[in-house]
Amino acid sequence: MVEEISHLCKGLKLTEEEQQDFHLPEEEFTLAQDISNSCLVALVALDREVNKGAFKITMSRVWNAERGISFKDIGRNKFLLEFHSSIVRTRVLTGQPWSCHRSLICIQECTGRLALKDIEFSLEPFWIQLHDLPFPAMNRRMGEKLGASAGKVIMVDVDEKGRAWRGVLRVKVLLDLSKPLTRGCVINVGDSRSWIPFKYKRLPPFCYHCGIILHTQLSCTRRVSDGSTYATSQLQYGPWLKADPIQKPRFHKAQSNSLEGKASGSGLQASSDDQGSNFGGNNTFQ
Ligand SMILES: [Zn+2]
Repeated sequence: MVEEISHLCKGLKLTEEEQQDFHLPEEEFTLAQDISNSCLVALVALDREVNKGAFKITMSRVWNAERGISFKDIGRNKFLLEFHSSIVRTRVLTGQPWSCHRSLICIQECTGRLALKDIEFSLEPFWIQLHDLPFPAMNRRMGEKLGASAGKVIMVDVDEKGRAWRGVLRVKVLLDLSKPLTRGCVINVGDSRSWIPFKYKRLPPFCYHCGIILHTQLSCTRRVSDGSTYATSQLQYGPWLKADPIQKPRFHKAQSNSLEGKASGSGLQASSDDQGSNFGGNNTFQ
């Protein structure tokens, strides 16, 4: 017990007053739940300090909530977002991934009993396009199976019968940001094997050396440790992993625009994804 406390307070010798134990009652968690449910925590994955003012103004505008979100700084490039409307909060959550000036904004809910500083931002949802699939494989079952090679599958974009009718099969996957992007998978069709390339929507800058999203090849620790150089190494990753926007049929245009304006639910998510260009590209950080 003494050793445990010593470890907790990093070796400090506690006074009698400091050794008192305080118990946080369960009702405090219950009372705090409503507040937690109106908040999100955001981390701008940028290797320099973000311009906080610009970030707040830009993202309030992007989320269409100029007076609907309170931003509180809680650390380097980290913000506690308090939403005055659950609709906006849902829109932000379901519209992930977000980015600003081409930097990924990692977003997590304030659930559990963690201190804000201990919330991890290692998992983020991304839409993946699975290309060149045989037509019989354009379904939910295959989407779940193949998408799982990239991360935890959240949903597959199929119709009510579980079929996809686009040129690609779209799967929303929770990516582990500490791992390299999965570039595709091999499927066996009869006696032949086929490579199924994966392409990612709204992919922020990532490392073309090791395929990890949270840094670029210029700051790649793996590149430094294995001694390779940017000029001589044969890059295994590249911009070809970014998905092009899928063009919607013209007669659907009016309908999708109106959905985008309301921005909620799974149908909207698909529209949001199909905007293609990274809205953050126009935003500026200093
Ligand atoms: Zn790297």
